[in-house]
Amino acid sequence: MKKIIAIILVAIMVLALAACGTPAKPAATEAPKAPESAAPSADAAKPAAVKTIVEGELHMATNAAFPPYEMIKDGGGFEGIDVEIATLIAEKLGLKLVVDDMDFTSVVPAVQTGKSDIAMAGLTITETRKENIDFTDSYATGVQVIIVKDGSDIKTVDDLANAKMIGTQAGTTGYLYCSASPEDGGYGEDKVTAFDNGAIAIQALLDGKVDCVVIDNEPAKAFVAANKGISILETEFTVEDYAIGVSKQNTELKDAINEILKELIADGTVKKIVDKYVTG
Ligand code: GLN
Repeated sequence: MKKIIAIILVAIMVLALAACGTPAKPAATEAPKAPESAAPSADAAKPAAVKTIVEGELHMATNAAFPPYEMIKDGGGFEGIDVEIATLIAEKLGLKLVVDDMDFTSVVPAVQTGKSDIAMAGLTITETRKENIDFTDSYATGVQVIIVKDGSDIKTVDDLANAKMIGTQAGTTGYLYCSASPEDGGYGEDKVTAFDNGAIAIQALLDGKVDCVVIDNEPAKAFVAANKGISILETEFTVEDYAIGVSKQNTELKDAINEILKELIADGTVKKIVDKYVTG
Protein backbone atom coordinates (compact mmCIF):
# COMPACT_ATOMS: atom_id res chain seq x y z
CA MET A 1 0.00 0.00 0.00
CA LYS A 2 2.81 2.37 1.02
CA LYS A 3 4.49 1.66 -2.30
CA ILE A 4 1.38 2.61 -4.26
CA ILE A 5 0.99 5.88 -2.36
CA ALA A 6 4.66 6.66 -3.02
CA ILE A 7 4.21 6.04 -6.75
CA ILE A 8 1.16 8.28 -6.83
CA LEU A 9 3.01 11.02 -4.96
CA VAL A 10 5.91 10.86 -7.36
CA ALA A 11 3.54 10.97 -10.29
CA ILE A 12 1.83 14.06 -8.87
CA MET A 13 5.20 15.74 -8.34
CA VAL A 14 6.31 14.99 -11.87
CA LEU A 15 3.09 16.38 -13.23
CA ALA A 16 3.36 19.47 -11.06
CA LEU A 17 6.92 20.08 -12.19
CA ALA A 18 5.98 19.56 -15.79
CA ALA A 19 3.17 22.05 -15.36
CA CYS A 20 5.53 24.64 -13.83
CA GLY A 21 8.12 24.17 -16.49
CA THR A 22 5.84 24.58 -19.42
CA PRO A 23 2.84 26.63 -18.35
CA ALA A 24 1.54 27.02 -21.89
CA LYS A 25 1.19 23.29 -22.41
CA PRO A 26 -2.38 22.05 -22.11
CA ALA A 27 -3.12 19.72 -19.20
CA ALA A 28 -2.45 16.12 -20.02
CA THR A 29 -6.02 15.11 -19.27
CA GLU A 30 -7.59 17.55 -21.73
CA ALA A 31 -9.08 15.62 -24.60
CA PRO A 32 -7.91 16.74 -28.00
CA LYS A 33 -10.46 18.85 -29.84
CA ALA A 34 -12.58 16.94 -32.32
CA PRO A 35 -10.96 17.44 -35.71
CA GLU A 36 -14.04 19.25 -36.99
CA SER A 37 -12.27 21.63 -39.31
CA ALA A 38 -9.21 19.46 -39.89
CA ALA A 39 -10.46 17.40 -42.79
CA PRO A 40 -12.34 19.34 -45.43
CA SER A 41 -14.29 16.21 -46.36
CA ALA A 42 -17.94 15.43 -45.64
CA ASP A 43 -18.00 17.78 -42.65
CA ALA A 44 -17.12 20.77 -44.78
CA ALA A 45 -20.58 20.73 -46.35
CA LYS A 46 -22.24 20.62 -42.96
CA PRO A 47 -24.31 23.77 -42.43
CA ALA A 48 -23.67 25.90 -39.37
CA ALA A 49 -25.64 25.05 -36.24
CA VAL A 50 -29.22 26.29 -36.44
CA LYS A 51 -31.60 27.36 -33.71
CA THR A 52 -34.66 25.21 -33.13
CA ILE A 53 -37.55 25.50 -30.70
CA VAL A 54 -36.35 22.58 -28.57
CA GLU A 55 -32.57 22.20 -28.42
CA GLY A 56 -31.37 19.11 -30.24
CA GLU A 57 -34.75 18.50 -31.92
CA LEU A 58 -36.36 19.41 -35.22
CA HIS A 59 -40.13 19.59 -34.84
CA MET A 60 -42.10 18.86 -38.02
CA ALA A 61 -45.72 19.98 -38.14
CA THR A 62 -47.76 17.68 -40.33
CA ASN A 63 -51.07 15.92 -40.80
CA ALA A 64 -50.18 12.23 -40.83
CA ALA A 65 -53.20 11.17 -42.87
CA PHE A 66 -51.78 12.11 -46.26
CA PRO A 67 -50.29 8.97 -47.81
CA PRO A 68 -47.68 8.46 -49.18
CA TYR A 69 -46.22 11.71 -47.82
CA GLU A 70 -47.05 11.18 -44.17
CA MET A 71 -48.97 8.47 -42.42
CA ILE A 72 -49.06 6.57 -39.15
CA LYS A 73 -47.27 3.22 -39.27
CA ASP A 74 -49.20 0.08 -38.36
CA GLY A 75 -47.23 -0.40 -35.18
CA GLY A 76 -47.22 3.33 -34.33
CA GLY A 77 -44.73 6.00 -35.34
CA PHE A 78 -44.70 7.84 -38.66
CA GLU A 79 -43.57 7.09 -42.19
CA GLY A 80 -43.81 8.52 -45.70
CA ILE A 81 -41.88 10.64 -48.20
CA ASP A 82 -41.91 13.79 -46.06
CA VAL A 83 -41.03 11.88 -42.90
CA GLU A 84 -38.02 10.23 -44.57
CA ILE A 85 -36.74 13.45 -46.12
CA ALA A 86 -37.22 15.31 -42.82
CA THR A 87 -35.37 12.55 -40.95
CA LEU A 88 -32.37 12.99 -43.26
CA ILE A 89 -32.50 16.77 -42.93
CA ALA A 90 -32.61 16.50 -39.14
CA GLU A 91 -29.72 14.03 -39.18
CA LYS A 92 -27.60 16.35 -41.31
CA LEU A 93 -28.36 19.21 -38.93
CA GLY A 94 -27.35 17.02 -35.98
CA LEU A 95 -30.91 17.06 -34.67
CA LYS A 96 -33.52 14.44 -33.78
CA LEU A 97 -36.73 14.61 -35.82
CA VAL A 98 -39.93 14.91 -33.81
CA VAL A 99 -43.22 14.66 -35.74
CA ASP A 100 -45.98 16.94 -34.44
CA ASP A 101 -49.18 15.43 -35.85
CA MET A 102 -52.12 17.85 -36.14
CA ASP A 103 -54.99 18.91 -38.41
CA PHE A 104 -53.76 20.27 -41.73
CA THR A 105 -55.24 23.68 -40.91
CA SER A 106 -52.86 23.95 -37.92
CA VAL A 107 -49.66 23.14 -39.82
CA VAL A 108 -48.85 26.63 -41.12
CA PRO A 109 -49.92 28.40 -37.86
CA ALA A 110 -47.73 25.96 -35.86
CA VAL A 111 -44.65 27.21 -37.70
CA GLN A 112 -45.81 30.80 -37.72
CA THR A 113 -46.35 30.87 -33.96
CA GLY A 114 -43.18 28.96 -33.09
CA LYS A 115 -44.74 25.68 -31.96
CA SER A 116 -42.95 23.63 -34.65
CA ASP A 117 -39.77 24.32 -36.62
CA ILE A 118 -40.89 23.16 -40.05
CA ALA A 119 -44.14 22.45 -41.85
CA MET A 120 -43.90 19.42 -44.09
CA ALA A 121 -47.24 18.13 -45.20
CA GLY A 122 -47.32 17.85 -48.97
CA LEU A 123 -47.59 21.59 -48.46
CA THR A 124 -48.14 23.60 -51.62
CA ILE A 125 -46.41 26.95 -51.99
CA THR A 126 -49.13 29.60 -52.23
CA GLU A 127 -49.00 33.39 -52.17
CA THR A 128 -51.31 33.53 -49.13
CA ARG A 129 -49.19 31.09 -47.14
CA LYS A 130 -46.09 33.05 -48.14
CA GLU A 131 -47.50 36.01 -46.23
CA ASN A 132 -47.26 33.99 -43.02
CA ILE A 133 -44.28 31.67 -43.45
CA ASP A 134 -41.25 31.24 -45.69
CA PHE A 135 -40.84 28.29 -48.02
CA THR A 136 -37.70 26.36 -48.91
CA ASP A 137 -37.03 25.29 -52.47
CA SER A 138 -39.53 22.79 -53.80
CA TYR A 139 -38.77 19.07 -53.47
CA ALA A 140 -41.89 17.52 -55.05
CA THR A 141 -45.01 18.36 -57.05
CA GLY A 142 -48.68 17.54 -56.86
CA VAL A 143 -51.81 17.97 -58.96
CA GLN A 144 -55.39 18.18 -57.70
CA VAL A 145 -57.49 15.29 -58.99
CA ILE A 146 -61.10 14.22 -58.60
CA ILE A 147 -62.07 10.91 -56.97
CA VAL A 148 -65.54 9.56 -57.77
CA LYS A 149 -67.50 6.42 -57.00
CA ASP A 150 -67.60 3.97 -59.91
CA GLY A 151 -70.60 4.73 -62.11
CA SER A 152 -70.73 8.38 -61.02
CA ASP A 153 -72.33 11.02 -63.25
CA ILE A 154 -69.18 13.06 -62.77
CA LYS A 155 -66.98 11.88 -65.60
CA THR A 156 -64.90 14.96 -66.41
CA VAL A 157 -63.77 18.10 -64.65
CA ASP A 158 -66.63 20.00 -66.35
CA ASP A 159 -69.14 17.77 -64.55
CA LEU A 160 -67.93 19.12 -61.21
CA ALA A 161 -70.33 22.00 -61.78
CA ASN A 162 -73.19 19.50 -61.48
CA ALA A 163 -71.97 17.95 -58.23
CA LYS A 164 -74.36 18.51 -55.33
CA MET A 165 -71.53 18.34 -52.84
CA ILE A 166 -67.76 18.26 -53.34
CA GLY A 167 -65.58 16.82 -50.59
CA THR A 168 -62.18 18.37 -49.81
CA GLN A 169 -59.73 18.59 -46.95
CA ALA A 170 -60.02 21.71 -44.81
CA GLY A 171 -57.52 24.44 -45.55
CA THR A 172 -56.05 22.80 -48.64
CA THR A 173 -55.52 24.19 -52.11
CA GLY A 174 -58.21 21.74 -53.27
CA TYR A 175 -60.66 23.38 -50.88
CA LEU A 176 -59.62 26.89 -51.94
CA TYR A 177 -59.94 26.02 -55.61
CA CYS A 178 -63.40 24.44 -55.28
CA SER A 179 -64.89 26.92 -52.81
CA ALA A 180 -63.92 29.97 -54.89
CA SER A 181 -66.80 31.78 -56.53
CA PRO A 182 -67.80 30.61 -60.03
CA GLU A 183 -66.35 33.87 -61.43
CA ASP A 184 -63.03 32.79 -59.96
CA GLY A 185 -63.26 29.31 -61.42
CA GLY A 186 -64.73 27.60 -58.35
CA TYR A 187 -68.13 26.25 -57.39
CA GLY A 188 -68.97 28.39 -54.34
CA GLU A 189 -68.57 27.57 -50.64
CA ASP A 190 -72.06 26.07 -50.35
CA LYS A 191 -71.15 23.24 -52.69
CA VAL A 192 -68.02 22.23 -50.82
CA THR A 193 -67.55 20.33 -47.57
CA ALA A 194 -64.19 20.60 -45.83
CA PHE A 195 -63.21 17.49 -43.89
CA ASP A 196 -60.47 17.25 -41.27
CA ASN A 197 -58.40 14.95 -43.47
CA GLY A 198 -58.44 12.93 -46.67
CA ALA A 199 -59.42 9.64 -45.05
CA ILE A 200 -62.60 11.19 -43.61
CA ALA A 201 -63.39 12.80 -46.97
CA ILE A 202 -63.04 9.43 -48.70
CA GLN A 203 -65.30 7.80 -46.12
CA ALA A 204 -67.92 10.47 -46.84
CA LEU A 205 -67.64 9.64 -50.55
CA LEU A 206 -68.06 5.91 -49.86
CA ASP A 207 -71.08 6.71 -47.66
CA GLY A 208 -72.64 8.83 -50.43
CA LYS A 209 -72.44 12.05 -48.40
CA VAL A 210 -70.42 13.79 -51.14
CA ASP A 211 -70.36 13.19 -54.89
CA CYS A 212 -66.61 13.43 -55.29
CA VAL A 213 -63.42 14.32 -53.47
CA VAL A 214 -60.84 16.78 -54.78
CA ILE A 215 -57.41 15.97 -53.39
CA ASP A 216 -53.72 15.77 -54.39
CA ASN A 217 -52.89 13.01 -56.88
CA GLU A 218 -50.58 10.83 -54.78
CA PRO A 219 -52.85 10.56 -51.73
CA ALA A 220 -55.69 10.01 -54.22
CA LYS A 221 -53.86 6.99 -55.63
CA ALA A 222 -53.26 5.64 -52.14
CA PHE A 223 -56.91 6.06 -51.13
CA VAL A 224 -58.18 4.47 -54.35
CA ALA A 225 -55.79 1.55 -53.89
CA ALA A 226 -57.02 1.04 -50.34
CA ASN A 227 -60.76 1.24 -51.11
CA LYS A 228 -62.90 -0.66 -53.61
CA GLY A 229 -65.38 1.09 -55.91
CA ILE A 230 -63.72 4.48 -56.34
CA SER A 231 -61.48 5.84 -59.07
CA ILE A 232 -59.59 8.92 -60.17
CA LEU A 233 -60.58 11.34 -62.93
CA GLU A 234 -57.80 13.20 -64.65
CA THR A 235 -57.98 16.98 -64.42
CA GLU A 236 -56.26 19.92 -66.01
CA PHE A 237 -55.60 21.55 -62.66
CA THR A 238 -52.14 23.11 -62.55
CA VAL A 239 -49.11 21.47 -61.05
CA GLU A 240 -48.40 22.62 -57.50
CA ASP A 241 -44.97 22.79 -55.86
CA TYR A 242 -44.51 21.20 -52.46
CA ALA A 243 -41.98 22.81 -50.16
CA ILE A 244 -41.03 22.99 -46.50
CA GLY A 245 -42.50 25.84 -44.48
CA VAL A 246 -40.17 27.64 -42.07
CA SER A 247 -40.74 30.58 -39.74
CA LYS A 248 -39.94 33.99 -41.20
CA GLN A 249 -37.84 34.52 -38.03
CA ASN A 250 -35.53 31.60 -38.81
CA THR A 251 -33.82 32.29 -42.14
CA GLU A 252 -30.73 30.34 -40.95
CA LEU A 253 -32.83 27.20 -40.72
CA LYS A 254 -34.37 27.83 -44.13
CA ASP A 255 -30.95 28.37 -45.71
CA ALA A 256 -29.49 25.29 -44.03
CA ILE A 257 -32.42 23.15 -45.24
CA ASN A 258 -32.05 24.52 -48.77
CA GLU A 259 -28.38 23.49 -48.75
CA ILE A 260 -29.28 19.99 -47.61
CA LEU A 261 -32.21 19.71 -50.04
CA LYS A 262 -29.91 20.68 -52.90
CA GLU A 263 -27.58 17.83 -51.95
CA LEU A 264 -30.38 15.31 -51.44
CA ILE A 265 -31.91 16.20 -54.81
CA ALA A 266 -28.55 16.24 -56.66
CA ASP A 267 -27.40 12.88 -55.36
CA GLY A 268 -30.73 11.24 -56.18
CA THR A 269 -31.81 10.63 -52.57
CA VAL A 270 -35.11 12.50 -52.88
CA LYS A 271 -35.99 10.64 -56.08
CA LYS A 272 -35.14 7.33 -54.44
CA ILE A 273 -37.43 8.08 -51.50
CA VAL A 274 -40.26 9.25 -53.79
CA ASP A 275 -39.89 6.16 -56.01
CA LYS A 276 -40.05 3.93 -52.96
CA TYR A 277 -43.53 5.23 -52.10
CA VAL A 278 -44.93 6.34 -55.47
CA THR A 279 -45.99 3.59 -57.78
CA GLY A 280 -47.03 3.88 -61.40
N1 GLN B 1 -51.09 20.19 -51.28
C1 GLN B 1 -52.29 20.57 -50.61
C2 GLN B 1 -52.11 21.89 -49.91
O1 GLN B 1 -51.02 22.27 -49.62
C3 GLN B 1 -52.80 19.52 -49.64
C4 GLN B 1 -51.86 19.17 -48.54
C5 GLN B 1 -52.42 18.24 -47.49
O2 GLN B 1 -53.60 17.99 -47.44
N2 GLN B 1 -51.59 17.71 -46.63
O3 GLN B 1 -53.06 22.56 -49.65
